[in-house]
Amino acid sequence: METKKILLIDVDSKIPNIALMKISTYYKLKGYVVSLKKLNYTYYPKDRNQSLINAEGYDRVFASIIFKINKQVLKIVGCNDVQIGGVGVSLNNDLPLEIDNCKKDYSLYPDNDCSYGFISRGCIRNCYFCVVPKKEGMIHQVNKIDDVIEHKKVIFMDNNILALPNHIEILTELRDKKIRCQFNQGIDIRLLNDNNAKLLSELKYIGEYFFAFDNIKDKELIKSKLDLFKKYVSKNWKVKMFLYCHPDMDIYNNVVYRINWCKENKVLPYLMRDQSCWQSNNREFYIDLCAYCNQVNLFKKLSFKEFMKKRTKNIQRQEKSIGLYYDECYGGVCAQAFLSDGTPYKLPCEKHKSEQKELGLY
Ligand code: SF4
Repeated sequence: METKKILLIDVDSKIPNIALMKISTYYKLKGYVVSLKKLNYTYYPKDRNQSLINAEGYDRVFASIIFKINKQVLKIVGCNDVQIGGVGVSLNNDLPLEIDNCKKDYSLYPDNDCSYGFISRGCIRNCYFCVVPKKEGMIHQVNKIDDVIEHKKVIFMDNNILALPNHIEILTELRDKKIRCQFNQGIDIRLLNDNNAKLLSELKYIGEYFFAFDNIKDKELIKSKLDLFKKYVSKNWKVKMFLYCHPDMDIYNNVVYRINWCKENKVLPYLMRDQSCWQSNNREFYIDLCAYCNQVNLFKKLSFKEFMKKRTKNIQRQEKSIGLYYDECYGGVCAQAFLSDGTPYKLPCEKHKSEQKELGLY
């Protein structure tokens, strides 16, 4: 009898794709031969070529798309049984239970040396830019630690582990079993207390502790929680903050404030740009800002002004980005900032206003 064949297509995962690994196990157990094609698309909104996949000879194709922006990149020919899933396509396309219950087939990613998985799903919060509560609902436990671990180290992708009522038990188990681990989606710093902060500090933690500082209104709370955490993890730059950034946020008083706050507190920033930053009138500025924040060594060593002078010889770009960062006219350029729909929220200074008037621009 001819062996049946499955083609898995991983369009844009940065790490081993859990859904595809489970599908692989499910079909291998049924005697299928499974192969993986990895396409390595990013989430950056630049022009992307469509990938033409010839799936002739395969009985079934499964593709996973994580980022919405990659929704249209696949063209699959030669097979009539194609299923495309992932949060980039829909929030309501969970795996059937019999596949979801399978183990992950890590052999699809032979260079990988780490386990990935979730102890919990869902979240107690409802941040407007986040799909987790819509897709996964309220926080709930889905696995025990031992269900996830198959390697010497493990990356947990839980979205809000400290919101889980029994998280103390879980952290205690991780500590007692000396498991090398990380929570890579960020830990909710607002939920820190002496108990869980101490336990986190006692883990065999991989790299930095990721938290988030998304809302400027939380600044006092986050500072007090950071001080609490530093009682247990005092090393500088051992904390990394996700900083969500949207063109409708005031650049100087919100985005730059949080970046400078990170520097003052010896915390690494990780700027998470909303997709709309790429369409904004300040597009280049957000690209520069991200390049600055997300390159650890440059961020630690250089001011933004020094960084921009090294980054580009384009004087106009230097001046615009520096002006926006420091909220001042710099060189000949006004620090005028725009909302996502292109309307200015910070008007040009008097000098540039009159110049622009003469040119009929204002
Ligand atoms: S706390 Fe994190 S996971 Fe929860 S809704 Fe906000 S961004 Fe999403």
